[in-house]
Formats: sequence, C-alpha cells, structure tokens
Amino acid sequence: MTTKPAAAAARATVYGYPRQGQHRELKKAVEGYWKGRVTADSLRSTAARLRRATWQRLADTGVHEVPSGDFSYYDHVLDTTVMVGAIPERHREAVAADALDGYFAMARGTQDVAPLEMTKWFDTNYHYLVPELGPDTVFTADSSRQVAEFGEASALGLAARPVLVGPVTYLLLAKPAPGVPAGFDPLTLLDRLLPVYAEVLADLRAAGAEWVQLDEPALVQDRSPGELNAAARAYRDLGALTDRPKLLVASYFDRLGEALPVLAKAPVDGLALDFTGPAAANLDALAAVGGLPGKRLVAGVVDGRNVWVNDLEASLAALGTLLGLADRVDVAASCSLLHVPLDAAAERDIAPQILRWLAFAQQKTAEVVTLAKGLAQGTGAIAAELAANRADLDSRARSPITYDSAVRARAAAVTAADARRSPAYAERAAAQRAHLGLPLLPTTTIGSFPQTAELRAARADLRAGRTDQADYEERVRAEVQEVVSFQEKAGLDVLVHGEAERNDMVQYFAEQLTGYLATRHGWVQSYGTRYVRPPVLAGDVSRPEPMTVRWTAYAQSLTERPVKGMLTGPVTMLAWSFVRDDQPLADTARQVALALRDEVADLEAAGTSVIQVDEPALRETLPLRAADRAAYLAWATEAFRLTTSGVRPATQIHTHMCYAEFGDVVQAIDDLDADVISLEAARSHMQVARELAAHGYPREAGPGVYDIHSPRVPSAEEAAALLRTGLEAIPAERLWVNPDCGLKTRAWPETRASLENLVAAARAVRAELAGP
Ligand code: GLN
Ligand code: ZN
Repeated sequence: MTTKPAAAAARATVYGYPRQGQHRELKKAVEGYWKGRVTADSLRSTAARLRRATWQRLADTGVHEVPSGDFSYYDHVLDTTVMVGAIPERHREAVAADALDGYFAMARGTQDVAPLEMTKWFDTNYHYLVPELGPDTVFTADSSRQVAEFGEASALGLAARPVLVGPVTYLLLAKPAPGVPAGFDPLTLLDRLLPVYAEVLADLRAAGAEWVQLDEPALVQDRSPGELNAAARAYRDLGALTDRPKLLVASYFDRLGEALPVLAKAPVDGLALDFTGPAAANLDALAAVGGLPGKRLVAGVVDGRNVWVNDLEASLAALGTLLGLADRVDVAASCSLLHVPLDAAAERDIAPQILRWLAFAQQKTAEVVTLAKGLAQGTGAIAAELAANRADLDSRARSPITYDSAVRARAAAVTAADARRSPAYAERAAAQRAHLGLPLLPTTTIGSFPQTAELRAARADLRAGRTDQADYEERVRAEVQEVVSFQEKAGLDVLVHGEAERNDMVQYFAEQLTGYLATRHGWVQSYGTRYVRPPVLAGDVSRPEPMTVRWTAYAQSLTERPVKGMLTGPVTMLAWSFVRDDQPLADTARQVALALRDEVADLEAAGTSVIQVDEPALRETLPLRAADRAAYLAWATEAFRLTTSGVRPATQIHTHMCYAEFGDVVQAIDDLDADVISLEAARSHMQVARELAAHGYPREAGPGVYDIHSPRVPSAEEAAALLRTGLEAIPAERLWVNPDCGLKTRAWPETRASLENLVAAARAVRAELAGP
C-alpha cells in the first residue's frame, strides 16, 4: 500500500505521558514531601525537571506538538477542580493557607477533614478524585498552573498544546457535595462553568497557545438528549468566543456515537478521535456525517491502553481513509499514555524476541511519529520501519508462546454443557448441607489475613537471595498455622489458609501460569503516588502444575473444620493485566478458565470441599456502552462457570466481589451459579442484600458486616444489627456472616478483635432466631 503525501504535512502528537519519571522520582518526591523530608521547593523543582525531561524526550522522538498541563502531583481531575475554583467548603481554609498542602488535603484528607471521594477513570485502572458540586458552587478561574506549564514547554522552543479536562466531562464526573440532595444534577451548572473556561482559554491565548485541547471522554458513554444538548451548547458558546485559541475537542476509550454529529457540527477547530478497538466505529460514523470539512482531525490510531506494537500498515490504511474526511489529519495515540508503562527498553528479564512485540509509552510515541511521517511523505519514507514492524508482528503471530495448539484444541472443544454445573442448585445445596454440617448463619472470611511487615520482608529476602525457598516456605507455614489456630479459637466455621504466600491476587497466579509475562519496571499510576505493575497476558494460557493445593491442603491438615480453597477468577485475571490484542477477550478468558478449572479439580481431589473463586473485577470491566454489555457478561459469566462447574455436587463453590456497586449486574451474579457469594456491603448498610432479594436471587449470600477499609473495630452489636438488616432481605438459611473483603491490609490486633465480634454477632442472632 502506498499513500500519497498529505496536502498539509501530518503532525505527530500525544495527549499525555506517564508522570512519574524513569525511576519513579515523582512518587519519591511527593511521599518525601508528605513525610517532611522534602521541601516544597525541592518537590517543585523535581516536578519541573520531570516535565522538561518528558517534553525533551517527546521532541527527540520526533513529536511535533507536545502536550502541556497533563502533568499532575496527584490527579488531573483534582487539578481541574483547582482550575475552576470548586474547592469543597471543608478544604477552603487549608487551600487558602497553603495551596500545595490544601491540594494534598483534598486528595488524601487530614486527621479532621475527609478527602474527596476517589473512583475509576472510565474503564481504566486509574482513579480520579470526584468533584463535589452543589447549587451554591461558585466557580472562579485559576489558570496559573496551565499558563505556567505552557510557558515551561514553550521556553524549550517547542510547540505545546495545553490539555484540559473539558467542561462537560468535568460536570458529568462530579457528584452532589455532602449535604446537597442526591437528585442534584451537576450539569445544571454548565452556564456558570463556561465563563470560567472562557477565562482560562483567554489566558492561554495571551500566553501564546495556538491550540488548546479539551478532553471530553464522558461523551463516549451513552448520553441522554439533555446531556448531548449540553455538549452542543458548551461548544457553541466556547466556539463563539473571540479571544480564544483554536479548540481541539478530544474523546477516547470508545466511539462517540450520537455525540459525533454534535461535535462535528460545533464551531470548534478540530476533533481528536479514538480509532482503536470498539472506537474504530468512529471511522464509518465520521464518513456518515460528511467528515470534518475545514477542521483538523487528530487520529488516535495507536492504542494508548495496551502494551502491544501497533500494526503500522493497518494504521496507515485507516489514516489514508481519514485523509479524505478532514482538512488536515494528524496522528496520535488513542488516549493519554498515562495508562501504559514508560519504556519497554528498560525490561531486562523479557527475552529480546518477545520484547520486540511490546510498546510502552516511549515506543508508542515512536510509532505515532513513524505514522505521521508515512502519512506526510508516503510509505517509502518509512520503508525500514514498516519492514521491521511486519517482522515483529509475524514473529509474534508464529511464536509458540502466542500459539499453543494443545491449549487451542482444548478451548475449541468446550461446549455449553461444560460450563454448566449439575445437578441444579437445590439438589447441590442439600448435598452440601449434609456434607459440611454448618450451623445457621455460618461465619467465614474472604481469604487473606494481615500481610505483616515480616512476611513482606521474608519475600524480599527470598527475591534478593538472602534466604532460600525452604526457609521462606517454613515462614509461610508458620503463618498458616497461626491463622488457622486463631480462626479455630475465634470460632469461625469455614476457615481459610490466609494467603500469606501471595504478593498480589493476580500476580501470584500470573507467575505460575504459562502465557503471562512479568515486567520489572512496568509501573502505571493507579492513583496519586500508588503505582501498580500489571502482568502482561501475552500468550496461550495453561497451568503446568498445581498452584495453591499444597497451601490449602496444609491448612486443612491442621483442622477438622472445612478450609476454603482460594483462587482468583478468570475475569479478574484479565481485568488486572495487560491483555493480548490478537484474539477476542472471550477466547483469552476461556483459556484462563480452563487452567483454573484444573486447579479447582486438584483442590477438590486433595479434599477441599469449599472453593472460592474471587471476581472483584466483574463489574469494573463492564463496557462503557450499554450495547456492548450483554456480550461481555455472556463470556465473563461463562468463564466463571467453566472454572467452577467440574466439581461434585457436595463441593461448595463460593465467589466474592467488592469495589463497586452491583445493582446493575445482579443478573450476571445470578448467572455465575455460585453456591455462595460474599459481597462488600457494610458501608452501604446491606444495600446489596436488598438488591439480591429484589432480583429473587436464589442461592446463599454473605453481605459484609465488617468494613475492612478502616482500622476501626465494629462492635458485636453493630455487626449483629447489620445481620438483622440482612435477614430482612435474605432468609437465615441462606445468609452468611463475613467481612466485606480480605484482611491483608489490616493489622492483627484489629483483625482479631473484629472477627471475634463478628462471631459473637452471629451467635447472638442465631440465639434470637432459635427463640427463648
Ligand atoms: N481473596 C482475596 C483476599 O481476601 C480477595 C481480595 C479482593 O477481593 N480484592 O484478599
Ligand atoms: Zn474484596
């Protein structure tokens, strides 16, 4: 394929870049500042140095227009809250006294003042701080940070484009401030917010910005006519300003759908659109609205969220089509590169032939630059890059890592019946009751017990070679013993081994399954200064040998009571990893499910009669568009059932979910066909119990009665009161008593006290049910 040179030379750009620096300098500086070890001046100069290094790096790679204002000490939505002056009442004093300390107080809270709530940024694993707004909110413009950072980039001699969270997305992400009625719609504040954006835009124009980018990812979600109208009004008004830079409205993470004609008609100067994954639908939609005559199109053709090399020829073909649809086409990654690690070249433990398949922020930037060059100068100008890319893609497609014929054959042979448990629930439940002999309102925990500093140190010693495997395992066995003996003494009914051997519930399994790669430096921001290193699901998945059996069996050898086996489910194994892009997610999930199914079988064979398969991520992976949800839930629930359906009727399957509200996926929870589900519920006063009941959920459930996110110890009376509330929705024969989630982040003293109270609560309510 050859492309004709574009009329106006295509430019390469990105919307944002990882903030932390090559050695996570930002994390160290910010945390040092919190501890009083780093001064504010030194934090500011570290941050400025990191910004400069990023711009320089982008420019050296060949980016024509760098983003500014995408940097953040903590979170870009919180920065927007500062920019529009929407400081919550309770933080005003602190912000007025010291802007930086006030900023961190909003992010993290203080002894006396609660932070802003934190939640997931669309369907990524990045968390933002939720704006709190009300009818009395007064917006005031503070463009200082945006202007200063634009100035820093310009001072390097670079063309910079400030990037702002757009006004519609900002309001759609907000929630009513404490004390404001829940029915309050922040979008009603649009007319008050727009003049503030106008002021910021004018300031950036005065500072010399030619273009400003306004990010509106909220418009890729299903939006009501009223919301679409608000978007139309916002960009009509901002477009009509006379004293403004050129406006580029950006969307990403999915297709724009009905918002596309709205933005295409708006009097703005350009749109930035995602053309990857389901957002590829933007291409036909753009043609259908007649393109963007007279406007600039920034085409996000390099996936900004996965870690795989781009198919440059396919991207060039898409770009070629787009050339006819806008006045000028520039090339970008689909979204900010914040969501991928910094640089694949830093990975030393990954074999060089595999490393060539991976593209992190640095490599993606280079791909964008190559594509822009190809678009501007024709494919001849990038012949060498295209040949290398073709070779990398071929080696990936043909690799035995990517393609394991035994795994493929097994997955292809799966039938619907394989993913169905038999007999039906009622019969199973009777068999389990007879086999387990549990009391009414059985008590249990979610799996992990405190991950003590000593345990983490033991693991660090093992990694550093200071101890050997045998010593380490001895240490873990001692911990299992302690956890089991505590649970027996406390009087819990279904015990766990405590997960002392696990660093992380996904990583632990990823390390033992084929098909997964671990990175050494693949950190991505989860929130604030917290970074995670997701494993990379690169190839066909199988389980060479049992992963958890010896720990569960060891724990079971110490007690007469049932010990619950503990696995991470297939959906969560995908959700908290970088997944492959060369086959449907459903296929990858099925492979993981089959590997876990083998583990379930081995646990059962080793004498485990209760097996829990955790799926805390089931809700968060739900597609952004409602139209895509049924297909997702179908494969997700099938993968769970495939994992769990091979067991005998008397073996009880549990699952667990948390970190979300589940009201809109109760049908999917039902479709898992697990015998028992434990759910986070303490803070919402058993809300989920009522939702399950309203749905007619037929099986057993344990809505949490102990909020494990705080060191607070709930009293027995408090836990009993929650149990009684639970009983209003779920009959005693089907109600379990358990905490909200695992206890790994808690300390031992509060864990002991809380679980003793939980058992006391169960006993008290059992006595009430038995009558006088
Ligand atoms: N079994 C896991 C634990 O207890 C579940 C963790 C989770 O739901 N996030 O730690
Ligand atoms: Zn949990």
